[in-house]
Amino acid sequence: MKRSLTQQILSTRLRRRGLLVGTGALTGLAIAGQWPQRVLAQTRFSAYPFTLGVASGDPLPDGVVLWTRLAPDPLNGGGMPAEDVAVNYTVATDAALRNVVLQGTSIAPAALAHSVHVEVSGLQPGRTYWYRFEVGGEESPVGRTRTAPAPGTALNQFKFAFANCQEYQNGFYTAYENMAKEDLDLVIHLGDYIYEGGVSSTGVRQHNSPEVTSLEAYRNRYGLYKSDPNLKAAHAAFPWTFTWDDHEVDNNYAGFVPEDDQSVRNFILRRAAASQVYYEHMPLRASSRARGEFLLLYRRLSFGNLVTFNVLDTRQYRTNQPCNDTFGSRCDESFSPAATMTGDRQQNWLLSGLNRSTARWNVIAQQTMFSQFNFGQSQFLPGDAFNADQWDGYVAQRDRLIQFLQARQPANPIVLTGDIHSSWVHDIKTDFDDPASATVGTEFVGTSISSSFGGNEAQTSALVSAAVPGNPHTKFFNGLNRGYVRCTITPETWQSDFRVVSTIKAETAEVSTLASFVVENGQPGAQPV
Ligand code: FE
Ligand code: CA
Repeated sequence: MKRSLTQQILSTRLRRRGLLVGTGALTGLAIAGQWPQRVLAQTRFSAYPFTLGVASGDPLPDGVVLWTRLAPDPLNGGGMPAEDVAVNYTVATDAALRNVVLQGTSIAPAALAHSVHVEVSGLQPGRTYWYRFEVGGEESPVGRTRTAPAPGTALNQFKFAFANCQEYQNGFYTAYENMAKEDLDLVIHLGDYIYEGGVSSTGVRQHNSPEVTSLEAYRNRYGLYKSDPNLKAAHAAFPWTFTWDDHEVDNNYAGFVPEDDQSVRNFILRRAAASQVYYEHMPLRASSRARGEFLLLYRRLSFGNLVTFNVLDTRQYRTNQPCNDTFGSRCDESFSPAATMTGDRQQNWLLSGLNRSTARWNVIAQQTMFSQFNFGQSQFLPGDAFNADQWDGYVAQRDRLIQFLQARQPANPIVLTGDIHSSWVHDIKTDFDDPASATVGTEFVGTSISSSFGGNEAQTSALVSAAVPGNPHTKFFNGLNRGYVRCTITPETWQSDFRVVSTIKAETAEVSTLASFVVENGQPGAQPV
């Protein structure tokens, strides 16, 4: 029998009085007593409302963000009425949701596309939980999540995967099919969660509109991407943390400089729409909610005393790419001290955080390749060739960061990177042109979930492979495979396994480990396993 929403709210409120079922004092039901005027009393859906699944994110020792969005018709505006809707949620310590530790009600605001963001707190540190949403008698799938260990806890192991670049048309998400079966504490997404472009006739599946620029079009695009069953499975399996890159807004944009000819005014409006819709679809805290054309995404997550992740945003605050964003020899602008990937404020936040960190491993999770790579070191492209959209276009700021790492020596710096749709390992050198110079950190670049490496992957890979010997700090390169990187951290070692799938052109695939690299505590630079 379906209960009315009023009945559900009443029963939730009754439960809330003593609120807890089970042990432990729980806090954090922020929504009580804050009902908006126009919450629907009765909810009828034209179809199942949880088409986009559930997700959790940004774990803290006492809580995590739980997410869903009510969207019976996700490719056509969502299919919801104009009113806000109250949604119930349940958190338990078992997959069958028998041992309930928390129940409450949250609002799915119409103004935020009926997305739900619940910042639960009062949970136990370092523990796995299961959760589910319910509205109008309809239940969401059950998601699994995990809180962070208590601050300073001596952790023996932490396992996570990082991923990026999931162009929908170019392939199926077989990487997520397999990632969902891993044993992980966290997933980190480094951007290009959607692609904004129009319809390709050559892919295995198609986008649902021309290039997206409006609120409605971005929503329908996320609706398409988030309908994917493998992506939903990976979200339901682990908490994630995110940053974005360019395609969540516009290819290779920088600050307020778009890719194509758009007026600054139009691009600001576009950034505002893209930012709002990004927040609507991610399990982000309210502190990351879009304010106009800005969305605060750089933030820090810690797991015991073992690892701290500094998650960067290198798009919103960056200065324009030098040399007209061309691929080739560098121009003077590449060395400009004023050029920045992060803006001053974010850079200061990063350096002060690294400076006071007591974590064994200090991660900088960000978007484009940090280490130098001269693509011109081959017979195919003689002469210098650098990618101006990467840190090779922002040499002075990179030098400042590297000098900081050498001078202040935060423990075991590890840079994680996406964007380039291929797998790499680099030693981060104080002077990339001098192999004898000091190594101050290690960079792992993860391949794409599904995006293509330069169209003709065999050809692009051969071209880049030929340049690798001329870049001796580059320990590994592969452009042929799609997948993700699984990292296992202990106090003594960091191991990165490049997990690759057998195909993205079919709906299901096998996963295998292409290569593994280890960093020893106190010894920057990666060794093959
Ligand atoms: Fe990409
Ligand atoms: Ca990108």
